[in-house]
Amino acid sequence: MTDHYDLAIVGGGLVGASLAVALRTSGLKIAVIEPHPFDSEEQASYDERTVALTWSTRQIFQGMGIWEEIATAGAEPILDIHVSNLGHFGMSHLSCREVGTEALGYVVPTRILGKVLETYLQDSDSINLLRPATAESLTSDQNHCTVTVDRDNSSLDLKASLAVLADGGRSTLTKNFATRKTDYSQQALLCIVRCDRPHGGRAYERFTNEGPLALLPHSKQRYAVVWTCLPEQVDQRMGMHDREFIQALQQRFGDRAGNFSDPSPRKSYPLSRSNMSRVTRERIVIIGNAAHTVHPVAGQGFNLGMRDVAALSEILFTHNQTGSDIGSVECLQQYARQRRRDTFMVGQFTHGLIEIFSSDNKMLGLLRNLALSGVEVLPPAKKFLLKRTMGMAGRQPTLAYGLPLTAEGTSIPK
Ligand SMILES: Cc1cc2nc3c(=O)[nH]c(=O)nc-3n(C[C@H](O)[C@H](O)[C@H](O)COP(=O)(O)OP(=O)(O)OC[C@H]3O[C@@H](n4cnc5c(N)ncnc54)[C@H](O)[C@@H]3O)c2cc1C
Repeated sequence: MTDHYDLAIVGGGLVGASLAVALRTSGLKIAVIEPHPFDSEEQASYDERTVALTWSTRQIFQGMGIWEEIATAGAEPILDIHVSNLGHFGMSHLSCREVGTEALGYVVPTRILGKVLETYLQDSDSINLLRPATAESLTSDQNHCTVTVDRDNSSLDLKASLAVLADGGRSTLTKNFATRKTDYSQQALLCIVRCDRPHGGRAYERFTNEGPLALLPHSKQRYAVVWTCLPEQVDQRMGMHDREFIQALQQRFGDRAGNFSDPSPRKSYPLSRSNMSRVTRERIVIIGNAAHTVHPVAGQGFNLGMRDVAALSEILFTHNQTGSDIGSVECLQQYARQRRRDTFMVGQFTHGLIEIFSSDNKMLGLLRNLALSGVEVLPPAKKFLLKRTMGMAGRQPTLAYGLPLTAEGTSIPK
């Protein structure tokens, strides 16, 4: 059996679902292929994780018309960020007051994002959500691409003008595409802890010689903890009793934020960086973690994927409005050109932070103190860091200005 679509999106995780929702009013007929419901244990995209959304991602959701729902369901604003270096004098402070926005970003549980996206996947006439269904293979030629899908143990061919692979960092469909990988030999331990003081919207990034330790403001006077650990430490910390774990965390972080208690169940994630050398093939585009993964040190992975979504949805929307082929070479080249620099810069930026800030080397120790102090006294350095933190560096697509995609086009402020 064969079904025909304009766009076939493989993966209904955070990035794939966001692309479908961004294009729901574009006039394109869209298929989303996803094996797992958003609230199942097998669903890797929507789990216990909370993600830090940059200001740019907030604006993209605003342009998509779904930010108010996310904010109402539970988004905690990050008003300022305190960056420090354990055992050293260097520190830096970034605040939304310096840029005149209501926040630098927001902390949102991925399950809330999943729940909001799910209602639009279900309710939009232009989107056919095939779930449970798994894309088994993909072929393409000059005229169309074919995604072969396993659904209820029977095989279905989907033909489309364009296939978008948003099937995450463990994508099987891209395993033969050239990708550069770095294993960090580190794991991130995640949990939520209560604090005896209000957080006041402050996030903390504390660099230690084991790796960064971040506290993100969460609802009800709690913090989401993202603790980068060496593999042997992660096993030990995962196995600790709650009281022992809180003691270890408190000892590592100090008492700057207050006293912690009541840790939620802990979860750990292996960390690596990957970067696909070409994110387009004949009638195929690769986005989100399937195209690039970064260390969570600066909370950039999903945000980078959302900028893929914003750029691609604008290009596809415009090509479709003018009646041109959304899978054409010109269309895909335009996308690849637009995303190259941002993807490269974020990869380098996060990798550089890990290289410089997770080392025992004395020279690098001096360098990081100078770097943190330099950010405080050099306005251009601070501006650079604020722009990166907020996801607003470089050319921005329409959605990142909080503006919707419309047939009339948009007037992006100069
Ligand atoms: C510890 C940690 C903390 C993080 N914190 C942040 C943060 O604060 N801010 C931030 O921006 N990012 C953060 N990230 C990164 C962020 O979680 C990822 O970038 C994001 O989840 C990637 O989404 P994705 O949709 O591209 O991929 P995934 O989440 O992996 O989703 C892929 C989807 O594809 C589906 N799929 C897989 N194979 C197939 C197939 N063959 N057919 C059909 N469907 C398929 C899967 O079921 C899944 O739904 C963090 C990551 C980690 C590990």
